[in-house]
Amino acid sequence: MPSDPTPSTSKYNWALLGRETPPKRSAAERVQDYREVYATFDEETVREQAARCIQCPEPLCAKGCPLANRIPEWLALAAAGDFIGAAALSRSTSNLPEVCSRVCPQERLCETSCILSAKGDTIAIGAIERFINDYAFRHGAVDYVTAPPNGRRVAVIGSGPGGLACADELAKLGYHVTVFEAQPVPGGLLVNGIPAFKLEKCIVERRIDLLAKNGVEFRLGQQVGRDVPLADLRRDYDAVFLGHGAQKAKSACIPGEQLTGVVAALPFLIEKNAGSPLFDLPAVDVTGRHVVVLGGGDTAMDCLRTAVRAAARSAVCLYRRDFANMPGSRKEYENAVEEGAEFQFLTNPTAILDNGQGAVAGVRCVRMELGAPDAFGRRLSRAVPGSEFVVPADLVLVAYGFDPVSFPADSEFVQIETNEWGGIVTDENQMTNLPGVFAGGDSVRGPSLVVHAVRDARKAAQGIHRHLESVR
Ligand SMILES: Cc1cc2nc3c(=O)[nH]c(=O)nc-3n(C[C@H](O)[C@H](O)[C@H](O)COP(=O)(O)OP(=O)(O)OC[C@H]3O[C@@H](n4cnc5c(N)ncnc54)[C@H](O)[C@@H]3O)c2cc1C
Repeated sequence: MPSDPTPSTSKYNWALLGRETPPKRSAAERVQDYREVYATFDEETVREQAARCIQCPEPLCAKGCPLANRIPEWLALAAAGDFIGAAALSRSTSNLPEVCSRVCPQERLCETSCILSAKGDTIAIGAIERFINDYAFRHGAVDYVTAPPNGRRVAVIGSGPGGLACADELAKLGYHVTVFEAQPVPGGLLVNGIPAFKLEKCIVERRIDLLAKNGVEFRLGQQVGRDVPLADLRRDYDAVFLGHGAQKAKSACIPGEQLTGVVAALPFLIEKNAGSPLFDLPAVDVTGRHVVVLGGGDTAMDCLRTAVRAAARSAVCLYRRDFANMPGSRKEYENAVEEGAEFQFLTNPTAILDNGQGAVAGVRCVRMELGAPDAFGRRLSRAVPGSEFVVPADLVLVAYGFDPVSFPADSEFVQIETNEWGGIVTDENQMTNLPGVFAGGDSVRGPSLVVHAVRDARKAAQGIHRHLESVR
């Protein structure tokens, strides 16, 4: 689309026009399927919404974005109607803008940093980022420029957002990249964790197809440390990037966890959402059941909303702290409530109860209250004496977060330095203590965000390039 020569941004547009959010399907409609909840803006609305940006000389939105996205610059292009130019600029700092625009908690990152947040009416950055990037894909304008092959090979372990972003950056620099993925389907948690109602799988598949078309090789069903020794990769490749995530479910550590009907969050989400028969997980019957979800993060929210779609009779979240301290996204909390999920805050599960036949009958809980702030300002929760009660349940989904997966003791992985909770220790270039072995994403940070995995991966790709240039 040709650019409109008239500058469409003005310092006062924000005051003349309110923020809009993209159209959302009604809760009654969306619980019938697993498709995305939000539609996109139309072109006119994108231009108007982008023109609300006041073009701060020192944009706080870019500071709030872990990728330092050049937000005001692509907003100005979008306001002028140059959607393809805007998307190209957004891709220059982000390898997965079509994904981040859908799943980033913008309300905690770029949008909350927007100077207009003081007025309560920030720019709809995420929705505009999604529009321009979908537009560019739809118009065949997601170009791919790679340097001539430089004769060097890099092995990437894991095909989550970290692995994909690292492979993308290195391929553009002329490296031959091979991605080793333990699962039969690539995409990491983008495919086998985040439900399709937040991120449709075709969006991830489209990106993976683009990488493959541009020379990135995917070896699926190859678990490094079991099927392929790390030592072989170090011998056969010039560098290695570890993007294997942290997907070992944390236990609830309460009596009754072994009962039939207690299920870990991730296999449940994969079975219901991944949409690929290749995962081959046992079906969890949810129809007509009382589902209780333990935890208060994004995974808990996704379990609740998936249970509602799978025809649960009720879907109740038990979280031991209050709403303000809940780590899950506020936007997704609202969506979950609209769809019929119920939240019980300041509620600590203490045991899962047996129905007398080895299956779940309910969850015993105790009410909590918040005490005085500690030295870090955090208000610790404590049990209210005599406040025990039971929440009836016949399916309990445990969503207490994840730890890094441990590697076999005889694998070269054990030589990699880790911290007290098992996260990989890296230097400022994302390099581990093994020269030429880099790492990023959840395997380093613990459970985090897609945008953080992309950021680490971009840094690691630059680190790998510098490292290999220096040993040439
Ligand atoms: C249910 C759920 C919902 C979430 N929702 C959001 C959200 O809305 N927004 C957001 O920003 N973040 C969200 N997250 C977090 C986000 O998905 C992760 O932070 C991100 O995917 C981490 O990326 P990664 O590349 O480090 O690892 P992963 O995405 O975990 O990918 C790691 C990959 O490595 C593979 N692998 C592991 N070991 C090996 C091995 N030895 N050999 C080969 N392959 C291996 C795994 O199979 C996997 O495919 C969510 C997470 C979950 C679980």
